[in-house]
Amino acid sequence: MNPPPFSRDPLKYLAGYPQHLQTRVVELIEQGRLGTILADKYGQTHTVRSDSQLREYVQDLKERYLRKSVPLGKVIYDSKLQVMKHALGTHTTISRVQGNKLKASREIRIATVFRDAPAEFLKMIVVHELAHLKEAEHNKSFYQLCTHMEPGYHQLEFDLRLYLTHLDCA
Ligand SMILES: [Zn+2]
Repeated sequence: MNPPPFSRDPLKYLAGYPQHLQTRVVELIEQGRLGTILADKYGQTHTVRSDSQLREYVQDLKERYLRKSVPLGKVIYDSKLQVMKHALGTHTTISRVQGNKLKASREIRIATVFRDAPAEFLKMIVVHELAHLKEAEHNKSFYQLCTHMEPGYHQLEFDLRLYLTHLDCA
């Protein structure tokens, strides 16, 4: 019953967060408790399996919160998408790598890892991507949009980082 090995850089998802939080996370991993804690808190799965179901899901949220923004282009699960690089960026303001391109095409690509992730994390990442329809940067108004669509956004983003850390260690 050894704790999961710490080979790669499991805390890459938490770079930029305070040291005491990172230390706490390392403790939880070493005690083998991170997965259980997340499973207790986020036990709800979702049924958004196909690209067309994903599109419907995204469209519903868009109708509810961003009705006046541009129409959606393609909406797909993308297995080549790296969550950190394309979905979450870093914890601070960062310019969107393909901001202009995405702005022109209005595509929404969701990393395939979210297909099997708890329902709350899918919602969080979709909210994140929808907010990018109006704001290319991770700035204050971007996060205001996110919390408008999902009041628990910030906690979910942090817990998603824990979840991805857990997947990396598992
Ligand atoms: Zn983003």
